[in-house]
Parts: sequence; C-alpha cells; structure tokens
Amino acid sequence: MVYDYDLFVIGAGSGGVRASRISSSLGAKVAVAENLYLGGTCVNVGCVPKKIFVYGSEYSEHIDAARGFGWKIPEGRFEWSTLRDNKSDEIQRLNGIYKNILGGAGVELINGFARLVDAHTVEVGDRRYSAEKILLATGGWPRKPRFEGAEHVITSNEVFSLDVLPKRVLVQGGGYIAVEFAGIFNGFGCDTELLYRKDLFLRGFDQEIREFVAEQVGNKGVKLSFNTDIEKIIKLDSGELEVHLTTGDIRVVDGVFSAIGRSPKVEGLGLENAGVKLDERGYIAVDDSFKTSVENIYAVGDVIGRVQLTPVALAEGMALANYWYGDAPLNVDYENIPTAVFCQPNIGTVGLSEDSVRAKGIDVDVYVSQFTPMKHTISGLKEKTLMKLIVDKSTRKIVGAHMVGPDAGEIIQGIAIAIKAGATKDDFDKTIGIHPTAAEEFVTLRTPRQTLALNKNV
Ligand code: FAD
Ligand code: NDP
Repeated sequence: MVYDYDLFVIGAGSGGVRASRISSSLGAKVAVAENLYLGGTCVNVGCVPKKIFVYGSEYSEHIDAARGFGWKIPEGRFEWSTLRDNKSDEIQRLNGIYKNILGGAGVELINGFARLVDAHTVEVGDRRYSAEKILLATGGWPRKPRFEGAEHVITSNEVFSLDVLPKRVLVQGGGYIAVEFAGIFNGFGCDTELLYRKDLFLRGFDQEIREFVAEQVGNKGVKLSFNTDIEKIIKLDSGELEVHLTTGDIRVVDGVFSAIGRSPKVEGLGLENAGVKLDERGYIAVDDSFKTSVENIYAVGDVIGRVQLTPVALAEGMALANYWYGDAPLNVDYENIPTAVFCQPNIGTVGLSEDSVRAKGIDVDVYVSQFTPMKHTISGLKEKTLMKLIVDKSTRKIVGAHMVGPDAGEIIQGIAIAIKAGATKDDFDKTIGIHPTAAEEFVTLRTPRQTLALNKNV
C-alpha cells in the first residue's frame, strides 16, 4: 500500500513538532496538522507567556528591594497592556520560528482541525490524507468548573490576553497553575486570594516544602484560604462577581481565575472511527512503545496523561522518531524528572519527597537548611530560602533534592544531573562550593535534620 505520508502528526505542540521535525530529518515523509497555534500550549498559553508574566510581576518587589540598596525610585505604575502586547509580539515571533523549523526540516504543515477517518486516514477540512503511521499529540485543555455561574471564570486560555487586569481576583485550585498565577496577579498589584479545597496546596510535593511555600507566598501578600471552594458565582449589575464559597463566606471581586487541572484534548478527533481506546481516566491509552490500541497509531505528550511537562512531551516525541527512523532503542526514562513551580519564590524539586520515602519504608537521612538569602539582608524583603536533601542511608545516594528560593529551578536542574548520575552524599560533600551563592548550601549540609534559621553568611 502506498500512503501519502510515512507519518502524519496531529498537533504541532511540544511533542508533535519534535516528533515530526526529527522524523523528517531522518528521511521520513511527514505532515503535521495544527488548528490553533504553532508550538502548542507551551509557546502560546503555557510555559513561555507564563514565565514572561512571572518576570513582569517580580519587578514590583525588585523595585522595593532596590531602595534598600540605595536607589531612589519614585512610585511606579504597572501598565498591563504594555506587558500583554510585548508578550504577544514575542509569541508571534516564536510562532514564526516554529514555522521555519518545520519548513526547514521538510515537514508539510497543514492548517486545520484534523480527525481520524480510519486507521490510516486523516481528514482536515475537505481533504483526506493517508499515512503509514499516525501520531496523536493533541495535548490538553483547561478543565472548567461545574458550579452555577462557572461561565464567569477565566482559565489559562484567556488570562494571557485579558483586556483589563482584575483589581481583585480569586484563584481557584492548588496545583502548578493556581500557585504560579496567584504570585503573578499579586506581583501585578491585584488583590489576590487563592482558594484550595483541601488543607494545603501543591499536593504531591514534599510536605515541608508545601508548608514553607504557603508561609512565603502568604508573606508576600497573597491571601491563602484552604479547605474552601466556590459554590456559585453571581454576576452583579456593576459587572463585579459575587462569589459564594462552600464555607458560607461571600467575596465580591473583579475576576475569578480557575486552574483545576487539564483534560486530554480528544473531542472530535474521531478516535472511535479508528478504534483508538481511552484509559479509565479519559487519556489516550498507550503501551510502553506509545502505541495505542491500534497497531499503527501512536500518542505522546499531555494527551496520554503521564507527566504533563514540556520536556517530557519533547522526550517522548524525540524517542519515537529516533526509534522509527533512526534505529535507536525506544527509551524514555521517567525516573527523577526535575520540575519547577514558578511561584514566588520558586520551587525546584527532583526525586522523592520525604513523605514518600518514609511511606516506602526507606531509611533516610534528611538535611535541611533554611536561611535569609544574602540579597534580602539588605533589600529588607522578608523572603527566606529552604533547601533539603534526602539521602538513602544504606547506599548514601541522594534520592531527593528540594529547594524554595530564587532561581530554584535553575539550581535544581544541575542537581538533577548529579542525581541522575547516581551521586552520593559523599560526592556532594567532596564538591567545593561557589561562594557566595545560595546553591553552595547544597554541598555544605553536614548534619542531618539540621534547620538553620540563620543568615548563612554570618
Ligand atoms: P500541546 O503543547 O498542548 O500541543 C497540542 C497541539 O495540538 C496544540 O497546538 C493544539 O492546538 C493541537 N491540536 C489539538 N487537537 C488538534 C486537532 N484535532 N487537529 C489539529 N491540531 C490539534 N510545562 C513545563 O514543563 N514548564 C512550565 O513552566 C509549564 N507551564 C505551563 C503553564 C500553563 C499555564 C500551562 C497550561 C501548561 C504549562 N506547562 C508547563 C505544561 C506544558 O505546556 C505541556 O505539558 C506541553 O505543552 C504538552 O505538550 P503536547 O505536545 O503534549 O501538547
Ligand atoms: P494540577 O493538576 O497541577 O492541579 C489541579 C488543582 O486543582 C489541584 O490542586 C486539585 O486539587 C484542584 N482541583 C481539581 N479538581 C477540582 C475541582 N473540581 N474543584 C476544585 N479544585 C479542583 O493542574 P493545573 O491546572 O495547575 O496544571 C495542569 C498541569 O500543567 C500540571 O499538573 C503540570 O503538569 C502542568 N504545568 C506545569 C508547570 C510547570 O512545570 N511549572 C506550570 C503549569 C502547569 P487536589 O490536589 O485536591 O486534587
């Protein structure tokens, strides 16, 4: 059978672009269909614009901090439209780069919504294309809450292009997006309250890290309300939102930002036409080789619901392309994936939490240091840093490294390499620090379970 393409990819996001580009560069004839935006969630309504907003929102504190260092700065004013539009220009530039990357690699880009007609046929608009292999990389979509008045909430899809920034905002959720955006809104000067349905946000992260982050984020002015959620929203004639909480309390705000997780984007994809099955959570079910229930149809990235992070979607897409067309073994290693939450201050983490190692019955030594970063001894800001290493007593291997503090993501990325390479506590101890940095603390932790509430530079 002769097909139009060796590989047809649906979705030009992180996973789809990487898989199509590498496959094409290895000699396959490849097409990719995209109906919204090149680069997918990460580039358009995810990691990139989010990080730009994090940078933007940190300036309010930088300006306060600068005064402690002798800078005479008059009161400033944040102009939302400037940041929003500069961000949009940058995203447009990135969209162009993605187009060039795909074109340069010889991938044919097909604009439009794609759906499966059968196991080897994809339809986009009124055209049909056949392919030997089909890769589903359609990502996810914000989950909408179901309470009365839910149509008044905004999600991460809308927040990047708002006409007006809400002066008073409620953030619903306790995961990555809620915690990151609570910091963003707060930094922009919005009166911000985060509502989380259970007793402490960031479930799954190390308990001590979660408690510490709650303290730091609270100190910066975000009101944290745990064990509460939204019951209903009524839009008032004034345009304000009257938000009724499950505790019986009522808030009147200008906006509600909901971040309660993301669902796989499979609606209208025609999975049933080809016989592609979902798992019990609603994600596309795949085996160890990313193969769906149909022999020649594969899926990667958020739509398979393993680890919803850009570098993971990239790794999955690249591994498949190299396996199919480069004779490489198919190998995506999900162990010790480092991750950061870009709240303020940032969380960086790799490996196991203290709670999970203890639950597994692993005997560990835990090293903890808490201190005021040197910069803030002068800046006058109240922010503290926490660093934590978890060491398997029997092997001395580092099984978890966690940090809350400036540039935690940058620092933990380096630590993750050491952990991946099997570093022991003795390797860390033998490493000479870089002084004066916060990161040097990771190689000078000497006494298990030591909590220094001191300025480390004393
Ligand atoms: P996507 O990037 O979502 O790409 C899927 C693409 O498929 C989309 O472009 C979509 O339009 C297209 N598509 C869907 N259906 C069809 C169809 N039928 N026909 C044609 N095209 C279709 N991860 C990090 O690692 N770090 C971060 O800091 C980070 N921040 C984030 C912040 C936010 C607000 C959000 C929402 C996510 C963030 N993520 C972050 C997660 C990251 O964006 C995702 O894990 C990643 O984008 C997943 O890539 P993907 O290729 O699976 O899907
Ligand atoms: P998460 O899964 O991280 O968090 C969802 C939050 O919403 C949880 O606190 C959850 O509570 C709560 N929740 C779920 N359902 C409801 C409900 N019906 N009512 C009220 N609350 C609810 O999802 P996000 O939307 O924050 O982010 C999606 C994914 O995107 C992340 O998991 C992450 O993989 C990725 N991402 C990564 C980032 C990064 O790398 N920095 C940044 C942003 C996103 P509970 O804990 O009780 O289940």
